[in-house]
Amino acid sequence: MSDRRVAIVTGASRGIGYAIARRLAEQGYDLAICGTRQQTIDKAGTRLSEEHGCDVLACAVDVSERQQVMDFIQKAQKHFGRLDVLVNNAGITRDNLAMRMKEEDWNQVIATNLSSVFHASQAVLKPMMRARYGRIINISSVVASMGNPGQLNYCASKGGIDAMTRSLAREVGSRGITVNAVAPGFIATDMTAELGGEAQAKLAEQIPLGRLGSADDVAAVVAFLASDSAGYITGQVIHVNGGMYM
Ligand code: NAP
Repeated sequence: MSDRRVAIVTGASRGIGYAIARRLAEQGYDLAICGTRQQTIDKAGTRLSEEHGCDVLACAVDVSERQQVMDFIQKAQKHFGRLDVLVNNAGITRDNLAMRMKEEDWNQVIATNLSSVFHASQAVLKPMMRARYGRIINISSVVASMGNPGQLNYCASKGGIDAMTRSLAREVGSRGITVNAVAPGFIATDMTAELGGEAQAKLAEQIPLGRLGSADDVAAVVAFLASDSAGYITGQVIHVNGGMYM
């Protein structure tokens, strides 16, 4: 078993997930990362290991499929012999007004954003309980607290994450495992690039800090929650939103 701590980050091929993986690599973690496409996740993995000298296991995984999540985490456990941190970051949007939302768009968002968090958390609990140490960090969203028209499915998935975070934190606290969520506001990634420049500028006007957040703004908080300094924080949803929701 390696001396180095190991973090799993889902959806780490780009955006917030990649920034989290990079921040953890900088802090000396080895990594198991996944995305939907082998080529892009391999590219991310190669960059991380070349720049930070860490061991990276990069896998193509569809987190909406329970078995694929289980296999990924089992592979990581076998490869590294330990699992210290799980960051449930992978997420998608399939926006539409409630009246027009297709069943498929509801199901896909719930499976990808919410059920995946249950499955991955369940899979890491045994090794973490055995080690009497673990950090589970779920990426939620400000809209879980605010609501957002056109995002009924997405808001429901993120609200579910917040509730699951509190519930699991109560279950596993006595085993040295903390469970927290980070709720980003509007962060400049591919997900928000879809909005276009004009909509982004309008959004920035509503944010007290006057700008969209960066993936690094979120990654810094995740890295803190993963660290020993955050050992007495559990069951919390930490907002990183430039003040757009208080
Ligand atoms: P992004 O740029 O769209 O990246 C999404 C990441 O998730 C990619 O690595 C993608 O992999 C992966 N992914 C998507 N579906 C997946 C699946 N079924 N299985 C495995 N991986 C999958 O998104 P982001 O903006 O970085 O968002 C990351 C997280 O932050 C999400 O949970 C999102 O809801 C949350 N969030 C984002 C914002 C924001 O403003 N950006 C705000 C609040 C919360 P591929 O490259 O293979 O597609």
